[in-house]
This record gives sequence, structure tokens and C-alpha cells, in this order.
Amino acid sequence: MRTFSQNNNYKRGTWKGLKLSTGQRSADFTCPDCGQLAALTHHTIDWKGGVNPSVVCPNNGCKFHEYILLEGWHDK
Ligand SMILES: [Zn+2]
Repeated sequence: MRTFSQNNNYKRGTWKGLKLSTGQRSADFTCPDCGQLAALTHHTIDWKGGVNPSVVCPNNGCKFHEYILLEGWHDK
């Protein structure tokens, strides 16, 4: 389990809030290993910020694959 802090500047290992066209909340995250930006729109995020299923970096050259927690998610 890796904890991601909230950040609006796409720093590595952070997340940024996203609002879907359906009105649902989601998030973008930046890979802590390679800096790749990706969306968590195909994941579910529980009220504590726990993301399911585990997150795989979409960058082919990167091996990041972990369960992540979005720190601060429940404060919004
Ligand atoms: Zn990566």
C-alpha cells in the first residue's frame, strides 16, 4: 500500500481531484517511479481514499503496481 498526497502540480507520487461528466468524483495520479500521469476512472475509490483494484502504471517501461491510498480524499 502506497500513500499518495494531494497536489495540484502533478508531482510524482501525488493525486489531483477530477470530476467526471457523470458528476462523479475521480482522480488523476502521477506515478512515483516514472512521473507518468494517468486517471483512476476505471477504479473505485472508497470514502477513505482507498483505490481498488491495485494501480498499474500505464507506462510500458515502468513496473509500478501497488494498492494506493489517496491522502486527504475524505476531507472533500
Ligand atoms: Zn510509472
